[in-house]
Amino acid sequence: MSTILDGKLVAQAVQAEVARAVAALRARGVVPGLATVLVGDDPASRVYIGSKERACAQVGIRSLGERLPADTRTADLVARVRELGARSDVHGILVQLPLPAGIDADAVIEAIAPGKDVDGLTAISQGRLLAGRPGLRPCTPLGIMRLLRETGRDLAGARAVVLGRSLLVGKPVALLLLEQHATVTMCHSRTRDLAATVGDADVVVAAVGHPELVRGDWIKEGAIVIDVGINRLPGGGLVGDVEFASARARAAWITPVPGGVGPMTVAMLLANTAAAAAAATREAA
Ligand code: NAP
Repeated sequence: MSTILDGKLVAQAVQAEVARAVAALRARGVVPGLATVLVGDDPASRVYIGSKERACAQVGIRSLGERLPADTRTADLVARVRELGARSDVHGILVQLPLPAGIDADAVIEAIAPGKDVDGLTAISQGRLLAGRPGLRPCTPLGIMRLLRETGRDLAGARAVVLGRSLLVGKPVALLLLEQHATVTMCHSRTRDLAATVGDADVVVAAVGHPELVRGDWIKEGAIVIDVGINRLPGGGLVGDVEFASARARAAWITPVPGGVGPMTVAMLLANTAAAAAAATREAA
């Protein structure tokens, strides 16, 4: 039976660290600010952005809520994001995704000033990650790495299997694992014999978006399982991408859904915002 990697608990510890960093910045007259941009009124997006704004308030980060109608034109949104990028009281810019159909999301993301890209999604941030240069990293992959740190396992030489190759999760987490000297295999919808590949892994990161795609009996005894998936069941309730109960019987460590990676994503957004504010303050000095 495995140990639960409790994302809520670890996120609280991260938030406490961020609150201390924010207090130090405030003592020097700098109030870290995060612009939270929501376009349209998608109910799930409203919930996500609301929880991020509440988390900001808890650690002393000022959030500037930008609410724009669903029929906003790409050019206007790009201009707004650039304006936010030019403001000295805004240290981070978060554009809640997905954007409504008809808006060119790539153009909007690329309008985010690289030093304020607290979601780590611009091509510059992703390129810096690939090149191993300092920069802001995407929040969910950062949260996953922090959870892995909690296990105390050395990742050097470990076999890590990442399911999913999105820019948001799969690709960046694979690069961060590589940075920690894991031997990384990336799987996707065309991968053959997923079961055997997963069965070889010391670390499994599942970011696919298919309920319980990863069967518990695929998991190697003693592996670490990080379940990123959030899948809403038709009858209500959430499940991850991994069959939790049977995987738990074999893994050494496993994240629950909910309460695993989700809270870490918000905590790392706060950490990135505080880091961006600290970097901007150093540059201004
Ligand atoms: P995405 O952009 O839809 O990417 C899904 C990936 O899974 C793709 O690379 C796809 O392969 C791969 N895939 C699909 N079916 C597969 C299969 N049968 N076998 C192997 N791979 C398969 O999703 P995402 O944004 O990365 O998110 C993935 C999941 O994580 C979702 O459930 C999302 O809600 C969740 N999520 C959670 C958090 C959090 O904070 N907890 C944050 C972000 C995302 P192809 O590239 O070949 O299509």
